[in-house]
Amino acid sequence: MAPRRSPGPIPLDSARRAVRARIARAPSLFIALDYDGTLVPIASRPELARPAPETLAVLASLTATPRVRVAVLSGRRLDELKALLPVSGLIFAGLHGLEVRPPVHDAAWAMDKRGIRTELKRLLRRLRERLGDAPAPRIEDKGQALAFHFRGFPPSEIRRMRQAVRDAFEALGDETPMRLAPGKQVLEARRAGIDKGRCALVLRARAGRGSLPIVLGDDVTDEDLFAAFAADGITVRVGRRSGKTRARYWVRSPEEVLHWLREILRIRQEAPARRTRSLNREGERT
Ligand SMILES: [Mg+2]
Repeated sequence: MAPRRSPGPIPLDSARRAVRARIARAPSLFIALDYDGTLVPIASRPELARPAPETLAVLASLTATPRVRVAVLSGRRLDELKALLPVSGLIFAGLHGLEVRPPVHDAAWAMDKRGIRTELKRLLRRLRERLGDAPAPRIEDKGQALAFHFRGFPPSEIRRMRQAVRDAFEALGDETPMRLAPGKQVLEARRAGIDKGRCALVLRARAGRGSLPIVLGDDVTDEDLFAAFAADGITVRVGRRSGKTRARYWVRSPEEVLHWLREILRIRQEAPARRTRSLNREGERT
């Protein structure tokens, strides 16, 4: 048998009892969810990745539950995310935390939007120079970010295109306020300094410092989220067990995520009653 590597995440189900107890005890919850691959299965085209009615229903019930805040943090644009999840009371963070509703009042979020557009246009020019007539990745203009998608191309083409994007980005120089971040079959140019983890910490503070963070995600960018709450949160990676992750737990699929969201809802709907009963008992003793 091969020697065991550093301990990876454990199945959330195997820690069910301990996790349920933490959720029941917590004064309040802050739930942070990724969208693609977490709330909904990854689709061949982004517009096909739509939430099931059950998912919308459980999110609506959670946001209506006292002392529960739910945020969805995604690489998608804010407007797109809001349209996909018509649930009142949800907090939305698009572009990996750059665009937030309700807005974040923090100097780090103040953006020179025109400056960033100029920088993105420079990047596109540099990329076109490098690619010439060769096939280009699918380019998604997200306003304040550009995503270069490689899904569906042959591996050799992907290597060449990735290198061209990296070279074009390098050509922007060290002074650029942008960063080039990898994801699943994608490279994305966006403003440096804000990521899902940083955004979620600000949103969590809004939910109350004593709140229990429960964070779920499936992609590289969600590692920032897991790192931010490694010490005090329930961090859950969605997907296959393989690969390095900062998350403590894992679940296999968005279906399992849905199962756990229902579980959290059930626990929190029971929790206030339990807390009241125990308070009454304490009252009788005094
Ligand atoms: Mg994802």
